[in-house]
Amino acid sequence: MANKAPVVFSRSNQKVPELFGANVFGLEQMRVRMPEQAYRALRSCIEQGQELDAGLADQVANAMKEWAIERGASHFTHWFQPMTGLTAEKHDSFANLEGGRLVMEFSGKALIKGESDASSFPSGGLRATFEARGYTAWDPTSPAFIRDTANGATLCIPTAFCSWTGEALDEKTPLLRSSEALNREAVRLLRVLGDQKIAYVYPTLGCEQEYFLIDRDFYVLRPDLVATGRTLFGAKPPKGQELEDHYFGSIAPRVLAYMQDCEQELWKLGVPVKTRHNEVAPMQYEIAPIFERTTIATDHNMLCMEVLKQVAMKHGFQCLMHEKPFAGINGSGKHNNWSMATDTGENLLEPGHTPAANMRFVVMLTAVIRAVDMHADLMRCTIAHAGNDHRLGANEAPPAIISIYLGEQLSEVVDNLVAGTSGRGERRKDTMRLGATALPTLPRDATDRNRTSPFAFTGNKFEFRAVGSSQATARPNAVLNTIFAESLSYMGDAIEKLKGQKGLEGAVNEVVVEVLKKHQRVIFNGNGYSSEWHAEAESRGLPNFRNAVDAISNFCAPKNVSMFECFGVLTSKEAESRMNIQFEAYSKAIAIEGQSALSIARTIVLPAAQKHQLNVAQSVTAAKSAGLKVDAQMKRLQELASRIEQLVAGIDDLNAAFEHAEQHSGLPLEHAKIYRDKVVTSMVRLRESVDLLETMVDDSLWPLPKYREMLFLS
Ligand code: ADP
Ligand code: MG
Repeated sequence: MANKAPVVFSRSNQKVPELFGANVFGLEQMRVRMPEQAYRALRSCIEQGQELDAGLADQVANAMKEWAIERGASHFTHWFQPMTGLTAEKHDSFANLEGGRLVMEFSGKALIKGESDASSFPSGGLRATFEARGYTAWDPTSPAFIRDTANGATLCIPTAFCSWTGEALDEKTPLLRSSEALNREAVRLLRVLGDQKIAYVYPTLGCEQEYFLIDRDFYVLRPDLVATGRTLFGAKPPKGQELEDHYFGSIAPRVLAYMQDCEQELWKLGVPVKTRHNEVAPMQYEIAPIFERTTIATDHNMLCMEVLKQVAMKHGFQCLMHEKPFAGINGSGKHNNWSMATDTGENLLEPGHTPAANMRFVVMLTAVIRAVDMHADLMRCTIAHAGNDHRLGANEAPPAIISIYLGEQLSEVVDNLVAGTSGRGERRKDTMRLGATALPTLPRDATDRNRTSPFAFTGNKFEFRAVGSSQATARPNAVLNTIFAESLSYMGDAIEKLKGQKGLEGAVNEVVVEVLKKHQRVIFNGNGYSSEWHAEAESRGLPNFRNAVDAISNFCAPKNVSMFECFGVLTSKEAESRMNIQFEAYSKAIAIEGQSALSIARTIVLPAAQKHQLNVAQSVTAAKSAGLKVDAQMKRLQELASRIEQLVAGIDDLNAAFEHAEQHSGLPLEHAKIYRDKVVTSMVRLRESVDLLETMVDDSLWPLPKYREMLFLS
């Protein structure tokens, strides 16, 4: 079934630089198509987040329309990110009737604002149905682009999505707000540190996206994959990934053709994809772009996931983005590489070459350590969902305890700084003073990395590895930006207060050391899987939220809500709505899994097992009546029968749990708890029976494609 002849596709002969951004209305397009002054105004609005003059919008709209029509577009859509984790769009054509004649029009008004019925998107209680209208608002910081399909093209305009009362109904708005907060606090702290040059700071993001590919012919035979994105059943294959011969192995030609197709599509959309390789598990792969400004990189990651899925079908593959499509085999994550850049082209997490640059670096690093220690609960929240529960803490995925990996050298720097003021205030020889001593050269060596760390420093950026592969990156980054902004604000205040009395260096030293002493406990360079770490983390007082439901509850802890409000990222109502939606999404995901598991067990697995039982019983009876010895076979038959009994009991058990959960009408948290405690546990038991039967039933009778087929027949 799987070994089809390779499909031959027409190859694009265009070179990458020609392809890149061909479908994007970027700065270059604007420069060529707009009056100089309008272009400049728009540019500063894009780059520095300055407000857009309404008069400018008509000029932009017109230039955008001309460009889009030249490229075959007939329609435009506001493209936004509601709180479903996906993108949404509603298309309108440019067509208008003018005295019976059709003209193609696009006004500044249509560019800036779109009306959208918000009632079918999750709002977590933010708007009542009687005021269900929402609107989309142009986000000029992310360029418009064209999606080509077989029969036409559509102009997509990235937008924010709000209720008429102004509340954010999407993921993009809080991300934009958090970037602003980070800019404000970073520039302020830089001034305190004596920098007068840097005018603007923005977060940067590069997402390494992992995914699985399986043959689509198998996929359609697995109702669980179709309904839930993961296999709810499936016995371990005889050849597991133990051999680890897949990682960085040569890429199968059919897969490579797919990757190349994806890359070309993404380049056209201006997504700077760069890296491709096999991942650890069989049929698992990764694609990674060159990092960009976070607000753009999040849009680009959404596009990347869409393109990976769409192009897969053309190649006879199904692309699985779920965090754990196959039990017992590596899951998929999305390493979220996060840093900050300045308008002067510097990376604020780059260790410097001079004592002054190092001082800035250590202040930034200290702010990160403080932020993560104080808000580990919030970070954990942003990666909490049903899919990631299967991944965290297993097969090279980081554990649920949030800690920071700094590597040996940098940890030593931290230790030395802290040791500097220990004892009676005397400095030991090996301690360092910021602003006076240079940092040792830090290695940027990939082998020095600890794959089990959820948040690792990798030379000049932090890698948030606990993010799941299917997730939209807007929320984790909005939270990273906010907690970091809060720490920058704290450090800025503290240094400023001491500066007059102790001088800049003295003030920085004192604040850095004080903060490190208090928050150093979050640094951990060891094995995140070991039971010692779990005990150690507990004794350090680090939180360990083992599952999504426990984690989500923290989103609206008073300290978190007041921080969101203080930095203008979320109002308390907006925060609460996000938490509710997260609980609802969890319950919904488990409900779908429960339903799917029930239907497969009842209508696919049980009949197959019974047919097998009948065959065996008939065979044993026949053998016995022929006077043959059948004791051992009888024993097998008995075992089979008792497994089938277990299966039926498991089905009844899951059914009861599912009905109980469905009927429950409490708060979103309570509802989610029932799904977690009753439905998930019943599903686990049912899976045990089914997987056992898979190893007993006649292979030719087993209707579901097996792991060994799906994973090893590329
Ligand atoms: P790996 O972690 O697999 O060794 P790299 O170190 O090359 O891979 O980078 C992984 C991702 O991190 C890439 O998408 C890269 O563009 C991104 N990245 C590199 N520098 C930064 C930065 N300053 N800010 C954000 N992302 C970055
Ligand atoms: Mg990496």
